Amino acid sequence: MVWSFSAGRSFDRCPRRWFFRSVVGHHAAKDPARREAYLLSKLDSLWSWRGRLVDDVIANHVVPTLTVGRDPDLAPLLAVARESHEAHLAFASAHRLREAAMRPSQHPDFLALLEVERGAPPSDADLAKAWGDVETALTNLLAMHALLERLKGAALLLPQRALTYKRTLAGGEPVTVRAVPDLLAFFNDAPPLIVDWKVHTHAATDYREQLAGYALALVRSDGQWGLPNLRRLTPTDVDLIEVQLLKDELRSYTLTDEDFRNIDVDRGESAMRMQALLKDRSKGDRDPYTVPTTTDLRTCEGCNFRALCWDGLAGPRYGVT
Ligand code: SF4
Repeated sequence: MVWSFSAGRSFDRCPRRWFFRSVVGHHAAKDPARREAYLLSKLDSLWSWRGRLVDDVIANHVVPTLTVGRDPDLAPLLAVARESHEAHLAFASAHRLREAAMRPSQHPDFLALLEVERGAPPSDADLAKAWGDVETALTNLLAMHALLERLKGAALLLPQRALTYKRTLAGGEPVTVRAVPDLLAFFNDAPPLIVDWKVHTHAATDYREQLAGYALALVRSDGQWGLPNLRRLTPTDVDLIEVQLLKDELRSYTLTDEDFRNIDVDRGESAMRMQALLKDRSKGDRDPYTVPTTTDLRTCEGCNFRALCWDGLAGPRYGVT
């Protein structure tokens, strides 16, 4: 089983939602329900996608420029973002998700919007707002001169690098923990820095726990290909910054050994709750309608899997355990 921060959060919102995404959905499944769960797992809301677009532009265009010690220019950055924005929206508007034998990984401009799938495509005002957020996020980023200077001085910048490590749960089951920080920065004369870009209008939640998990994953990934020597590094050494790109705000986190221990215990407990749903069953064999659901049906409103999960308009279907 693979545990990640986003899987843990999805499970906490609704175990069945996690189960549809992580266990039932399979791209090559012969069972139409499993193939359908896979396709539904690819749906994004307009608001979550515009954040991913910003992440991709930073990873593919801002970081390479910083790596060679140059300042990125705003105009060309906005031009590539706009081109990508339009290509993805054209893909989503044509609802190409439903083309026969669709394989998302073969389409660089793949986008499937939940709003289109439900027959209520985003309004022009929403589309304009989403693009405005992309512009604001990138404009604010390029004005964060102190952060950009710091990154330009890094010996190594790794955007969206997957970190994985194995741990054993209290019951003896192995689990793989996976984390993908937005940016890892390594310096010759300073501890590593982890940066997480956020494109949130309200930015009310803090991501301290997510960043702490990245620091744990980095320390435990010592020895993996492409990473510098981390043998003497401890989680408290790692600098953690959350960058709220719409709020134009940097949040630095300082955590103690006890914080890290508590977070590690919480993660183990989260993984055990997931594992309990899989126990004694082959992956994918459990009837998803026997998996517990959220008790707050407002959660279902934005859920990708509602069409599979619900019994018409009545609410979630339940099978016999
Ligand atoms: S529709 Fe509701 S109950 Fe069903 S998986 Fe989604 S969030 Fe859970």
